[in-house]
Amino acid sequence: MTTLNLDKPGPRLLIIDDDHLLRGMAANTLRHAGFDVCEAEDGFQGLAQVEEQGPFDLLLLDVMMPDLDGYEVCRRVRQARHGERVPVLMLTGLNDSASIELAYEAGATDFISKPINWTLLSHRVRYSVRAGLAIESAMRSRERLERAHYIANMGSWELVDDGARFLCSPELMRVLAASPAVVARAQPEEFLSLVADADRDTVRTLRQTALQEGKPYQLTFAIQRFDGVVRTVFEQAATVIDHNGRQVAVEGITQDITDRVEAEERIKRLAHYDVLTGLPNRQFFGELVAPALDRSTRLGTGCAMVYVDMDRFKSVNDAIGYAQGDTVLRLISARLKSSVRTSDLAMDGRAGQESMVSRVGANAFTMLLVDIDDDKQAALVADRLLSAIATPITVDGRELILTASIGMALYPRDAADAEGLTRCAEQAAYAAKSAGRAQYRFFDEAMNVRASARLARESDLRRAISEGQLRLHYQAKVDAADGAIVGAEALVRWQHPERGMVSPGEFIPLAEESGLILPLTDWVLETACADIRRRADLGLQPVPVSVNLASPSFADDGLRGQLEALLARYHLTPSCLVLEVTESLLMSDVERAVLRLQELRELGFRVSLDDFGTGYSSLGYLKRFPIDELKIDRSFVTDAWKGGRDGAIAVSVIALGRVFGLHVVAEGVETMAQSTFLLAHGCPHQQGYLFAKPMPADAFEAMLAAPPKQVI
Ligand code: C2E
Ligand code: MG
Ligand code: MG
Repeated sequence: MTTLNLDKPGPRLLIIDDDHLLRGMAANTLRHAGFDVCEAEDGFQGLAQVEEQGPFDLLLLDVMMPDLDGYEVCRRVRQARHGERVPVLMLTGLNDSASIELAYEAGATDFISKPINWTLLSHRVRYSVRAGLAIESAMRSRERLERAHYIANMGSWELVDDGARFLCSPELMRVLAASPAVVARAQPEEFLSLVADADRDTVRTLRQTALQEGKPYQLTFAIQRFDGVVRTVFEQAATVIDHNGRQVAVEGITQDITDRVEAEERIKRLAHYDVLTGLPNRQFFGELVAPALDRSTRLGTGCAMVYVDMDRFKSVNDAIGYAQGDTVLRLISARLKSSVRTSDLAMDGRAGQESMVSRVGANAFTMLLVDIDDDKQAALVADRLLSAIATPITVDGRELILTASIGMALYPRDAADAEGLTRCAEQAAYAAKSAGRAQYRFFDEAMNVRASARLARESDLRRAISEGQLRLHYQAKVDAADGAIVGAEALVRWQHPERGMVSPGEFIPLAEESGLILPLTDWVLETACADIRRRADLGLQPVPVSVNLASPSFADDGLRGQLEALLARYHLTPSCLVLEVTESLLMSDVERAVLRLQELRELGFRVSLDDFGTGYSSLGYLKRFPIDELKIDRSFVTDAWKGGRDGAIAVSVIALGRVFGLHVVAEGVETMAQSTFLLAHGCPHQQGYLFAKPMPADAFEAMLAAPPKQVI
C-alpha cells in the first residue's frame, strides 16, 4: 500500500459509522495511509463534529445507521456550517442503483460499496480528497473573480455558435441591469441594441472580426442599459481558439466606467473652465485662440482681442454681497456671449463659438473676434458690448447700472500670439479706465513702454499697501489766536524698505492711475478711525481729523457705506472726520459731485475744499458746492503778508468764506509774519510748519496731551 505523501498535517477525514469494528478498521487503514482521521459513532455525533471541528477534507458516511440514516445525515451536512462543499463518500452495503441514486440525491459525492476493499480504500479516498481540493480551489478562484468583477463593475460574456448566442455572466447582468429572464431569451442583436447609435456598427463589426479573423479589440462606448439608464462602458475581447486551432468563440469583458469618466470630465472642467461662469479660463482660452489665429494667418484676415474690465465691481460686491455679485457676473458673462455676433467669433474646430469668450480675472473677460479687418469693425462690437453691459440689472429690488472699460488689440498688428494680444488689450482697457471708464480704447505702442515701467512701480506700491509699509502722520490745525489745536490732517507716508520715507506727492498720482488709491484710502480711513478711537480711549482732547480723498475714492459708490461701517465699528460720530477734496475733483463732474457732497453732509460729515485757489473754480460753482471749509493754498499764503497780488487773493478768499458762511483754513504757514497777517485778516485757523510738522500718531498724541505754547 502506498503511503500518501501529502503535506503535514495530512488531510482530515471524518468517518461516521455505527459499526464499531468497521469504523476502527477504516480509521486504521486510512491513518496508516497518512490521513488525519476523526470518528463519529452515529449521525448526530457526526453532524456535531462537522459543525464544531470542521472543515474536513472528506466524510466517509455509512448509509445504514439507527436513528438518523446516512442519507439524512448527508442532507443535513449540506446545510451545516463547513458542510456545503465537503466531499462525502457514502458507505453502502446495498450495491443497488436505487440506493446509489438516493445517495446522490442527498448530496453525496461518490459511494463505496461494502464489503470494503481495504486495498483500494485509501486510493479512493485520496482521489476524492484531491478532486475535492481541486474543486474547492476552482470555486475559490471563481469567487475571487466574481468579487473582482463586482468591485470593478465588470462582467464577462461569450459569443458562441458562430455568433448566434451571447452568453452573459451574472456580473454582466448587473452591469447591464438585465434580469435573468431577459438574458435567457435575449439574442446577440438585443445586446447590441443597447450600444449607443453612434457606436453600434463599430461594436458589431469588431465582434464579428474577432470571431472570424481572431482579432482582439478594446473600445469605450455608451450603452443604454435594460433599465434605460445611460452609462459608459469599456469593452475588451479576444478570440477563443480550440485544440484544432479553430476560432470557436469570442470572450470579452465589459466594464462600467461611467464614474471614472465623469470624474475625469469634472477634473478637466476644473482645469479648463471658470467655475462661476462656465467660461474657459485664461489658460484654456490661450489654447483655444492659437488655432483661430493660425487660421486667420492662412486666410490673410485679421482678428481683434477684446479685454473687458468691469468698472468699480468692488463697490457692487460691497453693496449687494458676494453671492449676488457672482450672480451679476454670470449675467454679464451671458450678455457678453450673446452680444458678440456669431460671425465675430472664432469658429475653429474644437473652439466652438461660445468658448471664445473667457473669464480671465475676477471682474475681467476676454474674447477673440475673428475676420476683423479694421478698427471700425472692432469698434462696432465694442459699442455693442458697452451697451449690453449697461443694460440695467435688478438685484433684490435694486437697479444696478454697470459699466466696463474695454481695451482692444488687433492681430497681427499689435502682437503675434494670444498672450501678447491679451496683454495689449489689457493695457488698452487700462487706458480706457484712466480716461474715465465706460469706454473703449485701442492699443498703441506708447502704451506698452509706459505700461511696463508703471507696472513695476505699481507692484511695488501694491506690496507697500498689503505688507504694511504705509504710515499715517498727523499735522495739527491750530487756532493761531490762542494756540489751541482745533483739528489735524491725516497725511500718508510710505516707509519704503530701500528708499526710506517716501512723500505722498510721489506715489498718490500712481495710486490714482492704477486704482490702488481705493485700497490705500481704505487703509487711511481705517487707520485714522482707529487712531481717533485710541485717542478718545486715552482721554485725549477730541479733534476732528481731515482725510484727503482722491477722485476715485470720492466717486466710489461704496464710500458712504464704508464710512458708516467704520464709524459703527469704532463707535465714532461723523463729526470726527472732515473729508478733504480738491476743486479739480469736483469740477470733473459737477452734477455728480454736488449729489455726492449733499449725501455726505446729510450723513453729518464735513467737507473741506483743499488747495483752494489753485484750480479753476469760479464763484458760481463755489456757491453750488455744499461744503464747510476752504483751505487757502500754501502758494498764496507764502507771500500774502507782503501784500501784493497774493495778499489780495488771500484776503478775498477769507472774505468769500465769510460771505458763504465757510470756515477758512490757511495752509503752509511757516513764519510768524504769515500767521500774523492771516490772523489780522480774520483767518485764525492755520496749519503749517510754524506750529507743527506732520508727525507720527504717537508724537501727535503727546502733543495733544501737552499742547505747545501760543506762538503769537
Ligand atoms: P495737502 O492735502 O494739501 O497736504 C498738505 C501738504 O502740505 C502736506 O504735504 C504737508 O506736509 C505740507 N505742509 C504742511 N505744512 C507745510 C508748511 O508749512 N510748509 C510746507 N512746505 N509744506 C507744508 P504732504 O504730506 O507731502 O502731502 C502732499 C499731498 O499729498 C497732500 O496735499 C495731499 O493732496 C496728498 N495726500 C497726502 N496724504 C494723502 C492721503 O492720505 N490720501 C490722498 N488721497 N492724498 C494724500
Ligand atoms: Mg489736504
Ligand atoms: Mg492742501
